[in-house]
Amino acid sequence: MKTILKNCNLIDGLVSNIVKNSNIVIQNEEIVEISIGEMKDVQDAHIIDCTNKYVIPGLIDCHVHLVWDGSDDPQSNISGKDPETIALMAYKHALATLNTGVTTVRDVASPGRSVLSLRDSINQGHLLGPTIVASGPAICMTGGHVHYIGVEADGEDEIRKTTRKLLKDGVDLIKVMATGGIYTFGEEPGSPQLTKEELTATVDEAHKKNKKVAAHAEGLIGIQNCLEVGIDTIEHGIFADEESIRKMAKKGTYLVPTMIVMKRLANDDSIPGWALEKAKQVVGPHQKMLEKAIKYGVKIATGTDCGSPVTPPEYYHDELLIMEQAGMDSMAVIQASTRVAAECLDLRDRGVISEGKKADMLILPSNPLENLSILKGDKEIIKNGKFVNTEKSTTKSELVVS
Ligand SMILES: [Zn+2]
Repeated sequence: MKTILKNCNLIDGLVSNIVKNSNIVIQNEEIVEISIGEMKDVQDAHIIDCTNKYVIPGLIDCHVHLVWDGSDDPQSNISGKDPETIALMAYKHALATLNTGVTTVRDVASPGRSVLSLRDSINQGHLLGPTIVASGPAICMTGGHVHYIGVEADGEDEIRKTTRKLLKDGVDLIKVMATGGIYTFGEEPGSPQLTKEELTATVDEAHKKNKKVAAHAEGLIGIQNCLEVGIDTIEHGIFADEESIRKMAKKGTYLVPTMIVMKRLANDDSIPGWALEKAKQVVGPHQKMLEKAIKYGVKIATGTDCGSPVTPPEYYHDELLIMEQAGMDSMAVIQASTRVAAECLDLRDRGVISEGKKADMLILPSNPLENLSILKGDKEIIKNGKFVNTEKSTTKSELVVS
């Protein structure tokens, strides 16, 4: 049976205007037809009246840690647990993420096969959840940034072999730690970690298999190293200078800013003092960097670091507000969170609302372009053609949810 969203205001992720009076026909998991204006008679379909409602593609978060719960000390909750138990905990966080309207995530560091197994179960349709793109464990230097959810490797040969092993294990991308960060004791966000030679080895191996490399890169030297060796996505990018930002724009490197996690960390004294101090130092430069990146036309894909300390999944929408405050218009923010994010993740089957794509969509009660914060509120979430949150339903429908 088909489902038809009738007479909606469509924000499709592609064009920069709202397409009024749109009808979207969903069959099984896919969008099979989009028409404008009067609908022709359709037999055997659930018709959902979306008059005065707005439909956008399901949102995408390009930087999450599903194994962490976003509490003030997420690592302690998984520390010492086996990967199977951690995978079940990650499933709970994946469901919470889907319920915020995020229908796809890229997970960029998880221990063992925990999130890789969860990815397989969800992506193959055995469990309900957001589509997952996963790096498995991040590659870091011995004792490097969040080494407890990574795999430690040193020197070109070890890095090359570790990258090959991860690819053999079925990861969708490689994540590397190019600099220090906030939430590992005894390191500075600005200090480089993996060397240029080590980064080159991982990029070589990943690109041979057509996989991208995402780099945690907060300090300038680390960012410069990443740009020089052809890293595909820069995560955080806090201390990028003007030259690096121009280079990102020129090379088409994606920036995944994760502004919200730094703001949360800098304003919550429940975290250890040493982390709080570091967080407070990065918030200002991070904001200025994002403003410049927008100005110079860097490809920005929305990512939050949700799961990290004091940042559970519901903070996703605050990231969008920060992007808008930094200079993006609201349509650009929605596109960064849908189409551009899908491109960043190499997902060609979703991220926009058009014929032949997977039916991941949100039905919103008012215009998000006028106020992005309405994305936080009640909405209906369609994942792979099925409504997933009927208890919050705001649209009259006779649809029976399975
Ligand atoms: Zn992260």
